[in-house]
Amino acid sequence: MKIFISVDIEGVTGVTSWNETELGHHEYAWAREQMTKETIAACQGALEAGAKEIIIKDAHDYARNLDISKLPKEASVIRGWTSSPESMMAGIDASFDAAIFIGYHSAAGENGNPLAHTMDSKKCTWLKINDEIASEFTINTMIAAYHGVPVVFLSGDEMLCENSKKLVPNIETVAVKSGVGGATFNIHPERACELIRKGVKKALQNIDQCKIEAPKNPKLEIRFSQHEDAHKAKHYPGAKLVDAHTVEYQAKDVLDMITARMFIL
Ligand SMILES: [Zn+2]
Repeated sequence: MKIFISVDIEGVTGVTSWNETELGHHEYAWAREQMTKETIAACQGALEAGAKEIIIKDAHDYARNLDISKLPKEASVIRGWTSSPESMMAGIDASFDAAIFIGYHSAAGENGNPLAHTMDSKKCTWLKINDEIASEFTINTMIAAYHGVPVVFLSGDEMLCENSKKLVPNIETVAVKSGVGGATFNIHPERACELIRKGVKKALQNIDQCKIEAPKNPKLEIRFSQHEDAHKAKHYPGAKLVDAHTVEYQAKDVLDMITARMFIL
């Protein structure tokens, strides 16, 4: 069994402020450590379920967060950015049996996490796919589905975990925290790791129940906080300005959608 894991940091237990997510900031060290621990827990669960190969995409900011020396030997890590449309899913292809997301967070336009955002926290007010607010979970699950890979497990904030079931009804989730205003209510770091290990092991016993179809002709809409960013984005071939801050793109398929996203956001 070959497993793909994409790891972010804003949905790791405890993480509450942008300072804690920033490489080199003095408040960042423990957050990076907990991100690594939750990833190790996911690997342990996968190995207990029979995984033989694990590819991990470090998918936050500079993508150089995980302490790879602490990960199990069966795991390989993709650090930095490939500059390709898959972005947080770089490395995914049809050879994987399942995908897992760790440390994921609510979308821009939602209030389930003080650090809620979608791809670019400064530029994007919200991103919609087929008229629904889409999170990084939504986009990345569609990328996995495009390659025929089911997303079986998610850990992150409670609102994202609840919303994930609209796209993948049988997904196994672990909410390690909830967001209220600028605050987070967090479970203990060791408990988060225990729940993730057990949850991943269970999820990998029900891979087929998490298979979904990738959308055929996804419509992408992005609302920018600055109108000049919308003005720039409308020059992407096929993109249309909907109003001063919003651009729409009717994609042929998921790959076409994420290629547009890469250039306009
Ligand atoms: Zn992030």
